Amino acid sequence: YQAKRSRRGTVVYDPKTDEHTVGQLAMVTDLRRALDNEEFVLHYQPKVSLRDMQITSVEALVRWQHPTRGLLPPGEFLPVLERCGLMRPLTRWVLREAIQQAASWRRAGMPLQVAVNISPRSLVQDDLPARVLAALLAAELPAALLQLEITETAVMTNPERAAFVLTQLQSRGVEVAIDDFGAGYTSLAFLRILPITALKIDRSLIKDMLDHDEDEAVTSAVTDLAHRLGFSVIAEGVETEALLDRLAALGCDQVQGYVISAPLPPAALEGWLADWQSRSSPSVENAAAS
Ligand code: C2E
Ligand code: MG
Ligand code: MG
Ligand code: MG
Repeated sequence: YQAKRSRRGTVVYDPKTDEHTVGQLAMVTDLRRALDNEEFVLHYQPKVSLRDMQITSVEALVRWQHPTRGLLPPGEFLPVLERCGLMRPLTRWVLREAIQQAASWRRAGMPLQVAVNISPRSLVQDDLPARVLAALLAAELPAALLQLEITETAVMTNPERAAFVLTQLQSRGVEVAIDDFGAGYTSLAFLRILPITALKIDRSLIKDMLDHDEDEAVTSAVTDLAHRLGFSVIAEGVETEALLDRLAALGCDQVQGYVISAPLPPAALEGWLADWQSRSSPSVENAAAS
């Protein structure tokens, strides 16, 4: 139990700290059970290509279907998982699940690329490349239908190690994107040698772009730089049509955000996609109807 030292040096009992600690302990027990029982689910958020408004890729985002507390977002449990060393089994589950889902969509004639978020610590785990390749093989999924999203912080924590791991994966055809770009610090010199295919510009960088010229200047410069380095550019957290239009004008390749769709459970995504396709290509529908 936690006690707090008062200013006079005596130890006082602090029920608030205590509650926090007990709460965390209960959550760790809960999380272990959740991993055993596979209480996690993946929702998928589409990325739309601004060139033709088609959707060829989605991002897997984990949620915890808690037996009493309902559906919990990752912000509520990933930090706890990370602190108590349970990230590794979760990463394994997410990879396997996302790869199986992508394979099943492919078999159904819907070859969507699925992006999986990899935590900083999972990135430097020795067996990550082998595990990913084994999961792809087991599901018979072409490597190009998997993308890994790595935050710039993760890469910069151990750049050499990150480059080594990512090179192994990329040489087998797995795509790599830098996530939350612009939210931290990435050495531009290092970006140049990383084996990546895409930069995801963080929402914090673009959200006020329409009101602040400086923000737009940064987004525009990052987009040009990324293109010159041969990466595609994805803007995340786009909530309005106006922002989407501006990003298109700047040459951004893909957009993700509530303006297109929130992350959806697999079945809901399938329905949403069918609807999206019929809306974006009415000619196909007309042809089918006649
Ligand atoms: P992220 O990878 O940068 O994902 C984007 C987050 O923004 C997601 O939150 C998504 O639901 C949310 N979002 C999407 N569109 C919009 C929008 O238009 N406006 C706003 N305000 N938000 C939007 P979510 O699902 O809560 O995930 C939060 C973070 O948790 C992710 O950030 C990612 O870093 C992490 N995460 C999620 N799933 C996994 C996972 O399976 N493994 C690991 N290691 N991390 C994960
Ligand atoms: Mg992501
Ligand atoms: Mg992101
Ligand atoms: Mg983000």
